[in-house]
Amino acid sequence: MAYENYIDGEWVAAESGETATVRNPADLDDVVGEFPASGEADVDAAVAAASAAQSEWAATPAPERGALLRELADELEAREDELAETLTREEGKVLGEAAGEVGHAIDSLRYYSEAIRDFGGDVKNASARDKRLFTRREPVGVVGLIAAWNYPIAIPVWKLGPALAAGNAAVFKPASATPNVMRKVFECIDAVGFPDGVANYVVGSGSEVGSALTSHPGVNAVSFTGSTATGRRVYESACEDQKRVQTEMGGKNPTIVSDSADLEDALDIVQGGAFGVTGQACTATSRAIVYEDVYDEFLEGIVARTESIEVGPGLKGGEMGPQANESELEGTLDYVDVAKEDGATLETGGGRPEAETDGYFVEPTVFSDVDPEMRIAQEEVFGPLLAVIPVSGFEEAVEVANGVDYGLAASIVTQDHSEANRFVDESESGLVKINEGTTGTEVNVPFGGIKDSSSNTFREQGDAGLRFYTRLKTVYDSY
Ligand code: NAD
Repeated sequence: MAYENYIDGEWVAAESGETATVRNPADLDDVVGEFPASGEADVDAAVAAASAAQSEWAATPAPERGALLRELADELEAREDELAETLTREEGKVLGEAAGEVGHAIDSLRYYSEAIRDFGGDVKNASARDKRLFTRREPVGVVGLIAAWNYPIAIPVWKLGPALAAGNAAVFKPASATPNVMRKVFECIDAVGFPDGVANYVVGSGSEVGSALTSHPGVNAVSFTGSTATGRRVYESACEDQKRVQTEMGGKNPTIVSDSADLEDALDIVQGGAFGVTGQACTATSRAIVYEDVYDEFLEGIVARTESIEVGPGLKGGEMGPQANESELEGTLDYVDVAKEDGATLETGGGRPEAETDGYFVEPTVFSDVDPEMRIAQEEVFGPLLAVIPVSGFEEAVEVANGVDYGLAASIVTQDHSEANRFVDESESGLVKINEGTTGTEVNVPFGGIKDSSSNTFREQGDAGLRFYTRLKTVYDSY
């Protein structure tokens, strides 16, 4: 099947007529579809459509905009199973994980459909009688939304939902490896009747479509999710003409396992965080930092659990799907070699499973005796690879947890209330979790990192999402 862009309420091919093939990472013979290889001309058309539609959309009462988002959520819910299958087929995560992600997108739309009613400015006391001072929150205008492949519906929707709720018009670019699930969301956008031009979908590479969006003079704000290296380029490009910009990027997320932890809880939490979604979450647990007193017991438990994970296609009951593409698979295998060379001990995994040869499958992998300065303890791997690091106690654990360039999510498993709270105080990360895994987010609270994980300009999700997509106007009214 050949699919098209959605621009100004119409499905249209890329101006060049060129396409790129998207394949199922669990079965490379399975072609998901041909998608437009768009370029600058397509971005120009989408930005023009968005600019033409934006002011009328902004003038539409917020509850009406919210009502359309609610209808969109209902439409997605009616196609929930189909969307989950679509996601699994293009990205690889297993069906249960895909269903959870689709559910998050629906929840997020419902949240913003209501939240926009209560969103606005503040009234302040003025310095004179018969005078009012207040602020209004207005849409920023046309927004460019650029997403990574690893959460191909939840993250795009947590950008698109608040952008549209707040009265902006949007041009969305999916990752070129995973455009199909959002194509279906745009079918739903079309079906519920958003005005033409308010929401546009342009598929293509980062170097063509992505960079055209970030440098386009008609785009007022850019929201980016992806790697730190690309995010830096996006930030610089968007700042050149003073666009509002937010970038959410990589992570090297730790879970600390205290000697007071319930060991079974700790094993559940670390296993889920490290190997859920094949370790391809920005918030994935890539470091288990374990107190010496419980280190041997923890290691034995995590290795046994890792070996019990069934690797296989997500559409056929596998518990852990493939990596999403060849370069991610190669990247993980390269890090296995690096870890061995650096002197870490390979406990299990480290190769490709023999049974699954048709896709980008890799074994879930555990390294022990990892020194905090080794590359697998410092660099984002973005695959199912866990580094287990022994520490003497709380002080060293926090030093190791914080001793990386990233700062996205961090967690501690402990029964010690004071230790838990000290970790909240001392952790250098945007999300801190107690007795939970590093992955997983709720729609109504801010999400984002610090250090190299984020531009630290704005947060996503919750109210913070609406703040990014609105600017403040201050009104002096002497009556
Ligand atoms: P990536 O940086 O390669 O690509 C992200 C997006 O940017 C894609 O749509 C890509 O086409 C586009 N892009 C590439 N070059 C561009 C350019 N010059 N200008 C504009 N856009 C460009 O990242 P990826 O491999 O798709 O995703 C994996 C990374 O994303 C990991 O580092 C992961 O941690 C991160 N991530 C972060 C979060 C978060 O919220 N912090 C969430 C998910 C993924």
